[in-house]
Amino acid sequence: MRGDSAPITCPGCGLGGVDVFYRVAGVPVNSTLQLSSRREARELATGTLALGFCHSCGFIHNTAFDPTLTEYSSRCEETQGFSPVFSRWQGELARRLVERHDLRGREIIEIGCGKGDFLNALCEIGGNRGIGFDPAYVPERNTSPARDRIKFIREFYTAENAPESGDFIVCKMTLEHIPRAADFVRMVRASLGDRRDVVVFFQVPDMRRILDEAAFWDLYYEHCSYFDKASLCGLFQRSGFEVQDLESDYGGQYLMLEATPGSAHVKAPATHADEVRRIAADVAGFRERAPRLMDSWRGRLAGWKVEGRAVAVWGSGSKGVAFLTSLGIGDEVRCVVDINPHRAGHFMAGSGHPIVTPRSLIRDPVDKVILMNPVYLDEVQSLLGEMGLNNIEVVSVTRRIR
Ligand SMILES: [Zn+2]
Repeated sequence: MRGDSAPITCPGCGLGGVDVFYRVAGVPVNSTLQLSSRREARELATGTLALGFCHSCGFIHNTAFDPTLTEYSSRCEETQGFSPVFSRWQGELARRLVERHDLRGREIIEIGCGKGDFLNALCEIGGNRGIGFDPAYVPERNTSPARDRIKFIREFYTAENAPESGDFIVCKMTLEHIPRAADFVRMVRASLGDRRDVVVFFQVPDMRRILDEAAFWDLYYEHCSYFDKASLCGLFQRSGFEVQDLESDYGGQYLMLEATPGSAHVKAPATHADEVRRIAADVAGFRERAPRLMDSWRGRLAGWKVEGRAVAVWGSGSKGVAFLTSLGIGDEVRCVVDINPHRAGHFMAGSGHPIVTPRSLIRDPVDKVILMNPVYLDEVQSLLGEMGLNNIEVVSVTRRIR
């Protein structure tokens, strides 16, 4: 890692002092593509994760990221909307935002709206109009009563197509996919011009929890930018926003930021040096614990294989792909279960494991499932119970739930 020759410039602050602390080669470049054969899944292009930490602003990014390798199209199946727990949480978030910002009869813009679930909810609850940007949007899948009030643009949001209107801008689980995060936030700020009454809402994974839990399964190729509270807040302040609210939610998994356009004449504060030192300590802890945790998982899986236990992973999204490919898992795991019916019959990127429905466990049961997201523990256990599969042991990938 130290052999890397050229000094790395931080895309968060433009300064140097970036230190690579985690490296995995051969990870699939697209975790959520619908892959219809084991061969296609196994032959998917791979790239390298080489996460670098910036000692100036605390921003973490994949220094080996190549944006030309990733694909965002309707072939991507990323929605979590089939989980009742997730849908309930997302619905509550939409209601909270509508109440807090009095979003009624207004225009809402969503950058990276995916299949449109959240924008639909905001428009349904508040009688709002919407504009959603996402190349992966699939019109046939949208059955929302609000869909006629929403214009879906199946493109990336850019300086050229950014609307000049809009009362509220939402951008959930998108900024972490953007390599030049600071340029992007500045572009959003520029689209607002002199308007001060617009609120922007951003949601990203919380890197603090990932570092804390040494959650290597939360590090994957599509996510090239990683934030904790301090680095996210600093980025928005440097980009001309006033941060109004910043909280962690969903078991510490998501950071949610609300900001309003600030004055361009006020010099924004840099990220506080103490906070950057604190992130540096978290990074050092991860660097020490992650390899040990990875070894321990490889050992457990190898042991279960020797004992003849049938093991499934629960959750075919990016976490599941990262877990299997970072560990190099093959026949120690039989299959991957997913509650999203559109995923069944497809194969896991990189490892090629088949994706099955929960019900398929009735005729083809396993001894253990490894749950990729502990937020769904109750949901998965009650679903197994309903199918009479109480004897399947559910092992959470991490024990910590906050
Ligand atoms: Zn930086």
